[in-house]
Amino acid sequence: MCATHNSALFRKLPSTDEVLHQSEVQSLADREGHAAVAESVRAVLTRLRQEIADDRMDDKSLGLALAGLPAAIERQLRHSLSYSLQPLINATGVILHTNLGRAPLAAATIDHIRETALTYSNLEFDLATGQRGKRDVHVDRLFQKLLTDGIAKDHVGTAALGRPAERSSAAISTIVVNNNAAAVLLALNSLAEGGEVIVSRGELVEIGGSFRIPDVMSKSNATLREVGTTNRTRIDDYEGAINDRTRLLLRVHRSNFEISGFTEQPSLEELVALARRHNVPLMEDLGSGALFDLRSVGVQGEPGVLDSLHAGVNVVTYSGDKLLGGPQAGLISGRADLVARMRSNPLFRALRVDKLTYAALEATLLAYAKHDHNAVPVLRMMRLSKEEIARRAEAIVGQIESTHTNPHRLKLRLCDGESVIGGGAAPSAVLPTRLIALSHAELSTDGLRDRLRASDPPVIARVEEGRVLIDLRTVFPEQDRALATVMSSL
Ligand SMILES: *Cc1c(COP(=O)(O)O)cnc(C)c1O
Repeated sequence: MCATHNSALFRKLPSTDEVLHQSEVQSLADREGHAAVAESVRAVLTRLRQEIADDRMDDKSLGLALAGLPAAIERQLRHSLSYSLQPLINATGVILHTNLGRAPLAAATIDHIRETALTYSNLEFDLATGQRGKRDVHVDRLFQKLLTDGIAKDHVGTAALGRPAERSSAAISTIVVNNNAAAVLLALNSLAEGGEVIVSRGELVEIGGSFRIPDVMSKSNATLREVGTTNRTRIDDYEGAINDRTRLLLRVHRSNFEISGFTEQPSLEELVALARRHNVPLMEDLGSGALFDLRSVGVQGEPGVLDSLHAGVNVVTYSGDKLLGGPQAGLISGRADLVARMRSNPLFRALRVDKLTYAALEATLLAYAKHDHNAVPVLRMMRLSKEEIARRAEAIVGQIESTHTNPHRLKLRLCDGESVIGGGAAPSAVLPTRLIALSHAELSTDGLRDRLRASDPPVIARVEEGRVLIDLRTVFPEQDRALATVMSSL
């Protein structure tokens, strides 16, 4: 009986052509193009057909749906022509939020992308000789300046680099691949394929998004040689595992957790000395490669790229879009001969990055070279004082309270709190901040959070201990007004 009933409903559905001939739909097609509109018509009709098949339609609801057909087609068209990737307001206070795109780019990166990507460029062309060039030169120059000069200026670092002969060849080379996971894969495959890599059991980590050291190791065709225990590994453990198949000592930064209590880990200096004694390279996967001194923003114990190179680590790998504040990329910096082996590995060709990445990276590095740290958004955010954040929070609260139609419905309170760096960097480091805590007479905590997320622009807030919190550290000052407007509408 249902089937007969349904077939009657099916017969009422117009064909795509019939709908396209309706005058409203025709004028839509004149404006937006026939092909796109026809596709929307088909999508809407398919949906109706499905609803009939699922018994979710009767005569009456189908009549309503058919009357609203032009509007439904227009909605479908808007949806299919709108961007899926869109900007939002990150009010979580997590500076490197992997789900929210990690590091926002400096404005200069977009200028450099625009001027080089909208036309042809010397990506792999040497303008001086007219010969084919290498794409890495565009950033290697600035990395040389930031890393090699940084080391040369530091007496401790020069000493740590060892013998004078070694120092002269100690120019640091840098190559760029798609992300740090790719950097680790390329480095392990280039330096240790068919051999063994010694890693502490305390460093066999998984970094968000299923990057697991043992898995990357096996994909690189190197054999993982685990030493020590989860909480304690000594330099003797490394030494005892070195044999003639050993190709590399690997240290992995525990980016997203800390081990505390009864723990032991050799110092970098001990590892450097051991690696030298046995003539085996030492590599460190830093994850988040800070090119500036994190201690200047009160973050202790997070190694920077220079700290590791100073200490004498031969190769470091790090991300472009974590503390460096640039585009997604994996950077490998280290001894020129080791990096050269990676550059000539066919995997490097497979993992290489696009010209947009080089443009963005070069512009980011230039900001460092000019000491213009505030030009790099993640650095500016890290350097914001609690007082600056408090001033903006007070202004926003003042603005909302003066405009809100029903001041009793939305309650705003300022309180002290902490922002975090996130993105697998300095897991326990926090930055003092001033938060706006929201509560609503008619909405639960989750309801309030969802309403903020559904607004235009979407606002992503933090929920903590049953409160919805807004942390302006990660909100761009030019977004404050839009944020206040969204909050006023709650
Ligand atoms: C983040 C991280 C990675 C992965 O880097 P991606 O750039 O996300 O590929 C690898 N190792 C460590 C230690 C990390 O912190």
